[in-house]
Amino acid sequence: MKNIVLFGPPGAGKGTQAEFLKKKYDLIHISTGDVFRYNIKNKTKLGLLAKSFMDNGDLVPDEVTIDMLKAEVNNNPDANGFIFDGFPRTESQADALDRFLKGKNKEISGMIALEVPENLLVERLLNRGKTSGRPDDQDENKIRNRFNEYESKTAILKDYYQKQNKYFGVDGVGSIEEITSRLEKIIDNL
Ligand code: AMP
Repeated sequence: MKNIVLFGPPGAGKGTQAEFLKKKYDLIHISTGDVFRYNIKNKTKLGLLAKSFMDNGDLVPDEVTIDMLKAEVNNNPDANGFIFDGFPRTESQADALDRFLKGKNKEISGMIALEVPENLLVERLLNRGKTSGRPDDQDENKIRNRFNEYESKTAILKDYYQKQNKYFGVDGVGSIEEITSRLEKIIDNL
């Protein structure tokens, strides 16, 4: 069983790569951003709660996000493993995930980070905003705020997983196929 955290700033290509990797390794892909967007679209209580945070590019509060993630994992009891995309994003989310998996006799196999320079990220996100309809991709101020959230709350998770010898950095610049094969080389050895 492989449980992979796909890591990197907004626009790094986590979602794109997860689509390929989930098929190759038969893993369940959980994107917390996608689950929130689904709930917003369907006007659920969770969606209403998450919307204002997301629209501004702020993180949704930990407790809400952690409960949602646990429910997604519990909904897939027969999974061969998971790709966590966009989660954890804070140290308390990472702690909660470790404890939660330990309670199931499971653990994170590795965190793989897609490394992409910031100017390229902004360009990718603004481009995506033209077709994604995502309000947080269409406004450069919101994009910058998401980077601030990433730098101030999420980037420290590199240390968190490095301390467990579970951090792997990958060059996230190149064609989609090139980046997939870089990721596969790491995942094959996890
Ligand atoms: P993403 O689709 O990963 O870019 O996430 C879009 C937005 O969803 C983020 O800017 C946050 O507002 C929210 N979000 C997604 N995942 C998390 C998380 N793990 N913790 C808090 N907020 C999250």
